[in-house]
Amino acid sequence: MRIVFLGPPGAGKGTQAVRVAQSLGIPHLSTGEMLREAGRQQTMLGRRAAEHMSAGRLVPADLVEALVEERVGRPDCASGYVLDGFPRTVEQAEDFDRMLAVRSAGVDATVYLKVPGDVLLDRLSGRGREDDSEEVVRERLRQYDKLTSPLVDHYRLLGVLREVNGLGTPDEVFDRIMAVVER
Ligand code: AMP
Repeated sequence: MRIVFLGPPGAGKGTQAVRVAQSLGIPHLSTGEMLREAGRQQTMLGRRAAEHMSAGRLVPADLVEALVEERVGRPDCASGYVLDGFPRTVEQAEDFDRMLAVRSAGVDATVYLKVPGDVLLDRLSGRGREDDSEEVVRERLRQYDKLTSPLVDHYRLLGVLREVNGLGTPDEVFDRIMAVVER
């Protein structure tokens, strides 16, 4: 099963995507993690990505898509994966649809985690990651609203959108997600 996690920064995508992947026995693919790892390894791609990430901006699509295409082509992804942080724009989603169509595949479910804006700011300000200063957090929320939120309609039109209330304990949210994923 190919699952995409969608939702604003702070909605709990990372935590839940890891749990869902474990529960289904498929890899968890976080493009943010892949990019941070490339940055630590000081690869060319990592260095190019870092300047955008530290400002809270999205990195150019070609860089992320190259990482994703290579990763989903590995054998451990043959029976599916959980994507966390990709696609982030309509352009990326359309490129990804084409990438999958070549393999006669598609996204099976998009989990859209919904959390109100004021709760997001509270959660994000307490997280303490290097790209989590208040200004950077605000920019990331702006980028989400402008560039990523249109993906809700993209996946709704494809008939794979699963809306999930992201408020509550992690266990409660997890149970809601598994109920719609296994539907
Ligand atoms: P995340 O860990 O998903 O919150 O991502 C951290 C940062 O990595 C983002 O603020 C972006 O700068 C970058 N990033 C992660 N995934 C993508 C993507 N699909 N497209 C562009 N930039 C991304």
